[in-house]
Amino acid sequence: MKIDAGTRLFALLGDPVSHSRSPAMQNAAFAAASLNAVYLSLRCDGEDLPHLLRALARSGGGGNVTIPHKQAALAAIDVKSRAVTATGACNTFWLEDGRVHGDNTDVEGFTTAATALIGSITGKRVFVSGAGGAARAAVFALLESGAQTITVANRDEQRAHTLASELDAEGGRVRVAAPSSYRGAAYDLIVNATSLGLHDDDDIPFVLPALSRVGAVLDLVYRPGGTALVHQAAAMGIPARDGFDMLLTQGAAAFQLWFRRTAPLDVMRDALLEGN
Ligand code: NAP
Repeated sequence: MKIDAGTRLFALLGDPVSHSRSPAMQNAAFAAASLNAVYLSLRCDGEDLPHLLRALARSGGGGNVTIPHKQAALAAIDVKSRAVTATGACNTFWLEDGRVHGDNTDVEGFTTAATALIGSITGKRVFVSGAGGAARAAVFALLESGAQTITVANRDEQRAHTLASELDAEGGRVRVAAPSSYRGAAYDLIVNATSLGLHDDDDIPFVLPALSRVGAVLDLVYRPGGTALVHQAAAMGIPARDGFDMLLTQGAAAFQLWFRRTAPLDVMRDALLEGN
């Protein structure tokens, strides 16, 4: 593409960002849509985040926010979507009507990935391992989609209690349990929302044969070739997906918020797969 005075700058803000596939995915989408825009990864610390985020948006661009700044980004945006307010995390920002807007497209990413895997979420019983940003997006999406019960377990149990009280203030649908409590139980869907599975020497987040029944497994971790959890599920004949669909959908949803046009999904999928 030709970079000129009219080129709009979009960026992924986080630390680390060097491993991210978002630049490949978004630049391919920009090119396919003939947009005069470019997407970069910019490593930044917490102190610089608010200035950088607002400057990018106010110059006519926008971007995404990743670990560890998704919560800190809330303080830098003027208009929060419902998903941002509910989850306490912002992963997408842009300028609209002179104000900096923020959304959390991980919620849409999760809903799309889970629905592709199990069909309707309504009435389903789900176990979520983790209580960080990804777990918050997952639990909010599950509540919105009508899951019957959501059992949340986390290494730091207090963090799971905070998640449950903030996302399910009325109580009743989100329960907190010990990380090993899935053993002997039956779930329609189990979700790995911890970072376990990213590295070769990570513990496996669930021992699937220990469950009495599991309908499907959604691992939010994306790893070319699949995660150990997805391989374990496949060997048992359990439908399973890693974080690829969620990554693709959150990126497409961000594109649509920035440009108010349909994202070229096939191009974005191909660009993500190309790096494998
Ligand atoms: P985060 O906010 O830092 O939370 C990390 C979570 O992992 C916490 O629940 C943490 O437990 C748990 N954890 C970390 N190390 C652990 C260990 N050794 N044993 C047990 N639990 C451990 O990160 P996040 O934003 O939620 O991201 C979590 C994962 O989801 C990452 O791998 C990320 O790549 C993935 N993700 C994927 C997508 C996608 O589009 N596919 C989107 C967002 C995130 P404690 O609270 O006890 O520390």
